[in-house]
Amino acid sequence: MTQKKLPDDLQLETLAVRVAVDKSPYGENSEALYLTSSFVQPDAASAARRFAGEEQGYTYSRFTNPTVTSMEQRLAALEGTEACLAASTGMGAILMLCMGLLKAGDHVICSQSVFGSTIKLIGGEFGKFGVETTFVSQTDLAQWKAAVRPNTKLLFAETPTNPLTDICDIRALADIAHNAGAVLAVDNCFCSPALQQPIKYGADLIIHSGTKYLDGQGRVMAGAICGSREMIDGKFVPVLRSAGMTLSPFNAWVVLKGMETLGIRMQAHCAAALELATWLSKHPKVGRVYYPGLSSHPQHELAMRQQSGLGGAVVSFDVKGADPAELRKNAFHTIDQTLVCSITANLGDTKTTITHPASTSHGRLTEEQRQAAGIGQGLIRVAVGLDAVVDIQNDLLRGLDTL
Ligand SMILES: *Cc1c(COP(=O)(O)O)cnc(C)c1O
Repeated sequence: MTQKKLPDDLQLETLAVRVAVDKSPYGENSEALYLTSSFVQPDAASAARRFAGEEQGYTYSRFTNPTVTSMEQRLAALEGTEACLAASTGMGAILMLCMGLLKAGDHVICSQSVFGSTIKLIGGEFGKFGVETTFVSQTDLAQWKAAVRPNTKLLFAETPTNPLTDICDIRALADIAHNAGAVLAVDNCFCSPALQQPIKYGADLIIHSGTKYLDGQGRVMAGAICGSREMIDGKFVPVLRSAGMTLSPFNAWVVLKGMETLGIRMQAHCAAALELATWLSKHPKVGRVYYPGLSSHPQHELAMRQQSGLGGAVVSFDVKGADPAELRKNAFHTIDQTLVCSITANLGDTKTTITHPASTSHGRLTEEQRQAAGIGQGLIRVAVGLDAVVDIQNDLLRGLDTL
């Protein structure tokens, strides 16, 4: 069947529902799910050309599958990058990033506030293979600059951070990276391209955990790297082909359909989060509230500039208490009185989730490391879903009003 070619000047909302590979001869309106491990070749010579990369064509789903390609094309369109390569999980994408860019003797500069498994992977696993990493403050540019060495190849940041929502200046980090002859990779999981397109601020590579807002409904694991065609094809496709951190077509399809509602979901998530954060900051049992959309946030202006004027959907707050033991007791009480919120460390779901970072996501840190990171025993993180805000407020009041 003849395919209509999309015009070049479409808006993000339209790209999110339209970009995909060509339809099959059946003309399906919702993108097809190609659950197949391999593809039949027209003849031996075509097979040879395709395996040699001389001719386009699907061969084997470890590295080529049309459903996965649709997801990659759609995410690249939303991020404003030339290309995208999917991975099995967000961590799989970061593994692919490091394997594609780094070798023994190279140096990495990484924010100390990135996702815990990212710290373990880059600092720990790649440390075993002779890659050295310096962890620096998320917001102190002088530390990033001072950490640069002749062998620095990669700067890695995530913004906002989890759970304290510290914002880094992507443009400033891109300048530091490029002056050092290195590349900047930004984990854009918390904002998604609906709020923030790091490529516009000079980032070279964008990392995604599709498990979060891209799927948006807590169903599948997925990940991706977005960047230039040259870097994706030159550095990362060979890694994927050999190492096989492949996204399943089914998961790719779920994320592909999830992206269709990303824009309106993010608007709703952010509006609810701002309302909740504003309300929390007035409650007598609540100490500090961490949310980039509040004017009290230390990087509020930067966040508004970099994130399309929206604060994201993760709100953290300290319950009050006299000492670490009481803080922990009060935080546990508040969490345990909820009847609606899901007690789980995931985020980016339609269902609002609540968690105690000091004993879960950051439980492996020592008390000193936690103090340095500002994650106290009274801290609670709420990843605001699509529940009605009033129901979440009432849910939190069950605990806050009985402290
Ligand atoms: C969840 C998460 C990851 C890892 O993604 P998975 O899909 O769970 O492997 C990476 N970065 C951030 C910021 C995350 O929240």
